[in-house]
This record gives sequence, C-alpha cells and structure tokens, in this order.
Amino acid sequence: MYKMMTPGPTQVKEHVRMARAREFGNPDLDTEFVEFYKETCEIISRLLHTENETLILGGEGILGLEAACASLTEQGDRALVLDNGIFGKGFADFVSMYGGKPTLYTVDDRNPIEPGALEEFLKQDHDFKYATLVHCDTPSGMLNDISVLCPLLKKYGIITVVDAVSSMFGEEVRVDDAQIDILCGGSQKAVSAPPGLTFVTISADAKKAMEDRESPIASFYANLKVFEGYYAAKWFPYTMPISDIYGLRAAMDDIAADTDRIARHARIAQDCRKTLVDAGIRLHLESGFSNTVTVFDVPQGVTAKEILDMMLHDYNIMLAGSFDSLAGQVIRIGHMGSNANEADMAETMEALMQTLKRLGVNLKGR
Ligand SMILES: *Cc1c(COP(=O)(O)O)cnc(C)c1O
Repeated sequence: MYKMMTPGPTQVKEHVRMARAREFGNPDLDTEFVEFYKETCEIISRLLHTENETLILGGEGILGLEAACASLTEQGDRALVLDNGIFGKGFADFVSMYGGKPTLYTVDDRNPIEPGALEEFLKQDHDFKYATLVHCDTPSGMLNDISVLCPLLKKYGIITVVDAVSSMFGEEVRVDDAQIDILCGGSQKAVSAPPGLTFVTISADAKKAMEDRESPIASFYANLKVFEGYYAAKWFPYTMPISDIYGLRAAMDDIAADTDRIARHARIAQDCRKTLVDAGIRLHLESGFSNTVTVFDVPQGVTAKEILDMMLHDYNIMLAGSFDSLAGQVIRIGHMGSNANEADMAETMEALMQTLKRLGVNLKGR
C-alpha cells in the first residue's frame, strides 16, 4: 500500500479499521446502539466546544453540506454564498437546487475573506436567511477566519453554515464562541476514519429556522429534521451504518486523547511551507495558509502529472493535484489527522525534493 499523503481521504490507523470489523447488533432495534450513537455525538460536540446537538448522518461529507442547505432553504429564500474558493462557490448549487436565491460574495482567492470588506457589503445588503462559508477550502488550502466572520454575519441576523470538513480537529474550531449555526464535518479528512460519514452541529437558531418553515423540507435523506426526537423514541429515520460509526468513535477517542494535536498540525504545516519556500517553490496562496493542507504551484517546465506519477511510482507516496479551475495548476500535500506526523512528513518532503530535482526543477540550496 502507498502512503496516502492526500488532503482526504487520509491514512486510517489499524485499530480504527479494526473497530469497523466488530460484531454488531441491529442498529434499528438495539437500544445500546442508540446510547452509543448519542454518546459519540456528544463527544464530537465537546471536541468542537459546543452545547449544540451533533448528528451523524450516513453519507459522505457532501451530504452534510446539502442537508444544511436543504433543511434551511424555502422557495425564494436569499442566501449569501461567501466565495474565495471552489467549495465556497459550490454552495450556490445547493442553495438553488432547493429553490433558494444565492448571492455570491466573490473575493480574491489567494487571501482569506476580509471581515472589514464583508462588513461594508453587509451594511448595504444583509437581508439573507443564511450564509455559507468554508473554513478550509481544500482545493487551494485557503483558511478563512470563521471565528470573526461568523459573529459578524450573526450580528446582521444571518444564520451561518460552515463547511469545516477539512479543517476540524487540525485547526481549532470553537462552534459556540464563533456562533456557528450549522457546522459540517466529514470522517475522511483530519478525523482519519474511512470516507462514508458526515456530522453536523445544529444550533437553536438553526432548529428554529427549520421549525418556522412554511413548506416541508424537499428531501428525506438530506433533511436534518428527520432526526428530531430520535433519542426519546429510540428510533432512527433510517438504518444507521453501525460499523462506520464504530470506526468513527475509535477515531474520535484518539482525537480526544491527543492533546498536542492542534500545535502539531501548526508545527508540521509551518515546516512544510518553509521547506518549499526555502527551495524556491511558490506557495499557491499569499496568505491564509491552512495547517491541514499545503498547496504549491506546479513549477515551470514540469506538469502536475509528472510530479504525482514519480512520487507514487518511485517513492510510493500519493500526493494530490487539484480540480475545477485549479486542475493541473497545483500540487497538494495533505498533512491532516494521522498524516500529521513528523516521520511521514519528513519522508514525503524528502521524496518531493528528489522528485522535483530529477524532473529538472532548479531547487535553491539542493
Ligand atoms: C473533502 C471535502 C468535502 C467533501 O467532499 P468530497 O470531495 O466528496 O470528499 C467538503 N468540503 C470540503 C472543504 C472538503 O475538503
């Protein structure tokens, strides 16, 4: 097996994989599983510093984003879509799909969203039911400061929906302090469990907005209301993927026990950027570097495919290119979750430097 140094999925530890192989009871009928599910949700809430309820949904990260939009949007509702990256812009599709009217706030994609400029915009126009924003926009590695942006949106009475799929647990996320109404996460990024689960935290304001709807939510699967009262009734809206949730729990227990986690991500990310810059490689962003993924521009004279192929075939390490408008332009190193360890990163960076050199890239000091 190759070393999967991609920004999701990430490497999964053996005991997390083994937890998924446990014998299991009937998740529809076994009340012990309802307790286990709720306890796991409570652990996630605690790790995200929130009193809000967490729900784990049976579906990959995208399901959480879609469920948030589906559950909030009624015909004609205006939603503000903060866009300085590919996932940022992508939210507009979910808004329109459920009958909403997205307003794109599109800004510089090499720097984080600037709160002052956003406030100037909001002074002119703040009649939005909700806003969507991305904490770490993974295709470019852009980190937006949700701890400032979300309280600003809330000041104007706007519900906040945050995609933190690739940041949470590698970057500090404090849901209550940041006043995030719906926060979306996924199992396959810094959580380092296999892909297949998404989880969301839901605030009282978000619940009220769903309660106050005049029309029903236009989905069953992408619907956060169908979980209402599940614990009292000991009844899930659909059969829960129990084995996946056993795996997720093992990964969450690791995260809870790992007190150096945030500092280590910061250290590793900083070393990674320094190695690249010292060698004369250009980082893709000007500022707003995430501590979970580093993105650099493909140097002149080589292609992304040549770099990725040589890394994989000659060094057994998988890095990622990017997609959409960044296809072929950049290379991404995923140093989140279980990838964020000194040994794997040292091996990855050494192999990358050798690869670039062998492909004829002029590296400073090498
Ligand atoms: C990975 C990711 C998701 C989930 O999307 P997939 O591409 O299907 O894995 C959503 N948002 C962000 C920011 C992500 O990095």
